[in-house]
Amino acid sequence: MAQSDTSDVKIAGPLETALVQLDQTAELLQLEQSIHGKLREPKRVVRVSVPTKMDDGDVEVFVGYRSQHNMDRGPCKGGIRYHPGVTMEEVMALSMWMTWKCAVVNVPFGGGKGGIACNPKGMSMAELERMTRRFASELVDIIGPDIDIPAPDVYTNAQTMAWIMDTYSMNAGHVVPAVVTGKPVELGGSLGRDKATGLGCVFVVREALKTLGMPIEGARMAVQGFGNVGSWYSRLIEPIGGKVVAASDSRGGVYNPNGIACADLVAHKKETGSVVGCAGTDGITNEELLAVDCEVLVPSALEGVITSETAPTIKAKVIAEGANGPTTPRGQEALNDKGIFVLPDILANAGGVTVSYFEWVQSLAGYFWSEEEVDTQLEKVMVTAFERVHAESEKLGVDMRLAASAVGVGRVARAVRLRGIYP
Ligand code: GLU
Repeated sequence: MAQSDTSDVKIAGPLETALVQLDQTAELLQLEQSIHGKLREPKRVVRVSVPTKMDDGDVEVFVGYRSQHNMDRGPCKGGIRYHPGVTMEEVMALSMWMTWKCAVVNVPFGGGKGGIACNPKGMSMAELERMTRRFASELVDIIGPDIDIPAPDVYTNAQTMAWIMDTYSMNAGHVVPAVVTGKPVELGGSLGRDKATGLGCVFVVREALKTLGMPIEGARMAVQGFGNVGSWYSRLIEPIGGKVVAASDSRGGVYNPNGIACADLVAHKKETGSVVGCAGTDGITNEELLAVDCEVLVPSALEGVITSETAPTIKAKVIAEGANGPTTPRGQEALNDKGIFVLPDILANAGGVTVSYFEWVQSLAGYFWSEEEVDTQLEKVMVTAFERVHAESEKLGVDMRLAASAVGVGRVARAVRLRGIYP
């Protein structure tokens, strides 16, 4: 079988990274060729054109994708992102990571991911709505509560999910709340879903610091990306003692070695659209943020930022991957050389899909949980997943990324083995 080389993702892209990680895991687990081969390929990938009427009367034709990697443990689950860099290969990689992520936290889903190559920041709400509804119409036959359940991702949110839910429901002739998660609470969304990825990341960072004998009180955090994950992480780590010393978004970063009040960062971003220029901070670049003197680095933006080039500059002792795929295989090797403890994406950011699972259950049951119940159940899932992955890492003598992958891929492989290959 073709094996992937270990080139840096900057050159090779996220799909190459995802395949290298799977190949390494298959070797570690001594997976049979039939299962390894099945898991290397997504079950189904669709590419659709999304012609959209723009406000000026023109029609712009966007391209959208949905990759459904695996359904052996349940329906596909994963976000939809709107970003100029979206490609078919990217969503294929992201859907594969979703499969392992769902298995690491042991929720009964496989992995999916989709997106539209577009620049959402330059589009009006009306344009975004028309584009979303057209995309949802194209996907109507391959999504659904038992097939594939989208959720928010990069530059999509609860409103996007409401449009998808409405479009799907209008086609079905009745309301189908369980077709998406991360929808508004008024439409059956779960309390606690919005903050869930950040909160889940806080739980695993807390457990990691405890395990490493590092106090959380005063632990300095550098957060790359101040979207849903990075901003919630910052707000939720602060009350338990973490000190955010640096934060950034696509326009640049800010730094104050004595700590930055998260309320100020959130307010400044709300007002100006960026953290840049927040009072009491110095400006830094996104690259400089990675090299900030701190205990915990939280890359929570896009893929491929920790590479063989940037990894040697990192001073953090712990990395918690709020983003999907921020580290390349070569980057990981360099982190291992430096003895940095990595909480990999498929563990560190699994809180989002965990509460998505709770939301799906609530939507199907029509019975809703309190926010305390959601948070408590999330904590249990995240702590259990951390302990399981850490134990695997100790047992096998491998880094946390390979250990998490071994747990995730191992669970999916067992499901494939039990179901067998049809017919
Ligand atoms: N987009 C999020 C992720 O990458 C959430 C997916 C979901 O909740 O289905 O994990």
